[in-house]
Amino acid sequence: MQLINEDLITTDIVPYFCRHGVTVYTLRTDNIHPVISGNKWFKLKYYLEYALHQGKKTIITFGGAYSNHIVATAAACKQAGLAAIGVIRGEEPSQWSHTLCDAKGHGMKLYFISRNDYKNKIIPDEIHQPGTLIIPEGGYGPLGAAGAGTINYDKEVFNTICCAAGTGTMMAGLINAKKADARILGISVLKNNAGLANEVQHLLIDKNDEINICHQYHFGGYAKHNCDLIHFMNTLYRHSGIPTDFVYSGKLFYAINDLIEQKYFTAGSRVLIIHCGGLQGNASLPKGTLIF
Ligand SMILES: *Cc1c(COP(=O)(O)O)cnc(C)c1O
Repeated sequence: MQLINEDLITTDIVPYFCRHGVTVYTLRTDNIHPVISGNKWFKLKYYLEYALHQGKKTIITFGGAYSNHIVATAAACKQAGLAAIGVIRGEEPSQWSHTLCDAKGHGMKLYFISRNDYKNKIIPDEIHQPGTLIIPEGGYGPLGAAGAGTINYDKEVFNTICCAAGTGTMMAGLINAKKADARILGISVLKNNAGLANEVQHLLIDKNDEINICHQYHFGGYAKHNCDLIHFMNTLYRHSGIPTDFVYSGKLFYAINDLIEQKYFTAGSRVLIIHCGGLQGNASLPKGTLIF
């Protein structure tokens, strides 16, 4: 399945982060598409391939009003010639978010359901129809992890690979595909998400693989942020030209910079930060917050 040109991904050194004997690179998977960016494409690709192969006509998936997964699914389905339905958590807002408007613009049909029904995965009857494939929220599942496992980087060079973790699908895929002596480090963007390691473990092929997660860089919780984070994102951009989003990649880069400062990585480490995109989410910040 090649809706998206994965050759656009580059591996760039981040001189701003290189100190204490640590060499840091970033894998720019955000380059491949403005909204089907980074891990969202990788997590979706095998679901879409499966749907087409099985002759399904419609994809149904789930997310919040600012979900990168919702808008990425909408855009990818349009390209793949599949209809898309998004089940959105919470009552319909009086003013739709940029993300929802975009998803609708890509032809996705949106259904708003109460937070309670959402939690209990109660899908409106009218969208239970034959010929549909349900993709879990965030693309969580073996197919999502398998797709994330195809994120391509030089496995001979990097001994630590860092990613942001929401559902943990990408992290699991990276662990499944890593070289034996490499470490995958996940930065959790949710607060008190003690269940994350279990969710990751559930998708591992080798259940004995180590799961390394940092839980202290959530900035108050999912999609929460403060001046410190925004200031860091602007500084990173000024020094390195790397744009980040405040929900995932900003927290990831902040965490790695902080961990380098704390000498978490031993001298001689070659660290790869996977930039997973998500930049569309910045549209919900007040204008002028970010310099990019
Ligand atoms: C969705 C997303 C993640 C989280 O991926 P999971 O597989 O759910 O852990 C990380 N970074 C970005 C930019 C994302 O959009």
